[in-house]
Amino acid sequence: MSKKKIIIGIVCVLITLAAVYCIYHVNSRGKNYIAYEQFLKDVKDNKVSEVFLSNSHKIKVLYRDGKTFFTDNPRKDSFKEELLLQGVMVDEVDNRIQLVRSLVSLAVLATVLYVVLFRMKSLNYQMQKESKKLSNIDANKIEGTDILFDDIAGNDEAKESVKELVDFINNPEKYAKYGARLPRGVIFYGPPGTGKTLLAKAVAGEAGVPFYAMSGSDFVQLYVGVGASRIRDLFKKAREKGKCVIFIDEIDALGKKRDNGMDGGGNDERDQTLNALLTEMSGFNDNDGIVVIAATNRLDILDDALLRPGRFDRHIEIGLPDKKGRYEILKLHTLNKPISDDVELYDIAEQTVYFSGAMLESMMNEAAICAARRDSGVIEKEDIDKAFYTVIAGAEKKDRSGISKRDREITAYHEGGHALITKLIAPANRVTKVTIIPSTKGAGGFSMNISPDSMYHRKVDLENNIKIALGGRAAEELVFGRKNITTGAVNDLEKATQIILNMVKRFGMDDSIGLLNYDILRQNGINIGNESITEHCKRQLKAMYEETKGLLAENRAALDGIARALIERETIEEQDLDILIRKYSVCA
Ligand code: ATP
Repeated sequence: MSKKKIIIGIVCVLITLAAVYCIYHVNSRGKNYIAYEQFLKDVKDNKVSEVFLSNSHKIKVLYRDGKTFFTDNPRKDSFKEELLLQGVMVDEVDNRIQLVRSLVSLAVLATVLYVVLFRMKSLNYQMQKESKKLSNIDANKIEGTDILFDDIAGNDEAKESVKELVDFINNPEKYAKYGARLPRGVIFYGPPGTGKTLLAKAVAGEAGVPFYAMSGSDFVQLYVGVGASRIRDLFKKAREKGKCVIFIDEIDALGKKRDNGMDGGGNDERDQTLNALLTEMSGFNDNDGIVVIAATNRLDILDDALLRPGRFDRHIEIGLPDKKGRYEILKLHTLNKPISDDVELYDIAEQTVYFSGAMLESMMNEAAICAARRDSGVIEKEDIDKAFYTVIAGAEKKDRSGISKRDREITAYHEGGHALITKLIAPANRVTKVTIIPSTKGAGGFSMNISPDSMYHRKVDLENNIKIALGGRAAEELVFGRKNITTGAVNDLEKATQIILNMVKRFGMDDSIGLLNYDILRQNGINIGNESITEHCKRQLKAMYEETKGLLAENRAALDGIARALIERETIEEQDLDILIRKYSVCA
């Protein structure tokens, strides 16, 4: 038995003895004790029901009202008889049995205490071990990266901005000579999948230095202090290596604004981790050649402390690629793939508005898988088409036997509604495909609406997007009646609500609400009643919904035609859609 276990055992026995002593003491002189004279008086007054005689110096007395007391044992031979004569029952308790009972309870109590204390100790030890393990996790991850700027297509401005970082890592003295302080921290911000991680790796790759990568969420742990210790670990290891790039993905997980009262204060672990990061960053020397790059999808939610000079003071936007960027990315990701001659990458780039680099890469990979499955030798246009829709809506559901005729009809009108409204109000948009084939991601069908590339969204574009989103529900109501509208519009309503809220609260596009930005107001402690905004948005959406429904009613023949075609063929392409609309529509 180890020393520690023996100590725990002794502690248990002592605690048990103390507990037994306390109980005994309470019984003998505590509130359960009555004086012998009082006891005799109570016997005389016929208040006592039973006495438990024993050899110990106290005896137990049961009163007629059910209460028990202890009093001194007179230890005289006639005591039992006296009691019996006065009508008191007498029970003789065997002291040996009592002793055995006490010993057994003592042993049980000691064992329970031992187990509890021992478990607590080992739990504590496990927690310590766990938190130590956590604090070490991945901190020593070094990736010698062989990614270079040439592996990144598009993103030219961002690449240009980070080129000097590479020079800084390689020649910090050059900058020191001119008294220049280069940013220690750089933040890449932009939508998911736009190549932020890739660019950070390329900085390390071009500079030929180690790349340490962790995600912000790895730092924020259950146990307070673990994140901070991981940060210190990471920087210690990085410093030991000399020049390097430290990459922290999802920096918002630990660097969200602390002072807006919404999601900040009160999170000790996150605050401690963020402070540790800031402290470590302040601890560099200017010519250490260490660059910290963080990535986030949203710069606006980061804590100001993180963005101050000397910290992450250079912010580089990595946005969604434009048409040329998409073309470059497609070219890059088809370099190692056999592509059929009739595939025009430029056309694909045109159709993939709002696709990120990651989506394009995934699309080409999916197309390659399709071609391999067919063993067609090269990737054909149809493989890319299939992959395009898989990336957007998920793979087509193969087993469609369980879908009822009515559900097919509802989906046909719903998707037909989206497509028809798009063609009627936003002719610059393309509707490359309408289908009622459900996807494995849960969509009942979809209408592929591609808006033209543009830097800004006009008010009319946003309103059109709302009407297109509401087109599905409007068609359902028009055709099947108010009582038969379905849950199929759930995502459309989400989208419409988000757009109208942005228009009103952020873009200053609503005349009656004005030019105020509501997030800024709230940050300044000004609370504009949410109710009035909600009411206002509700009215706006209602008006747009009625307008959409009206337009569909006017073009009911076209809507019926599209729905019929969908029920018959499941999928219709843009040319067929245009023909149907021309044939039936009064407004087009
Ligand atoms: P997240 O914000 O979700 O972390 P991210 O912006 O860091 O995403 P990456 O992880 O760098 O995106 O990109 C994912 C993949 O997408 C890359 O591995 C690459 O295959 C592809 N990719 C993204 N952008 C580009 C690009 N500009 N050029 C080439 N490939 C790209």
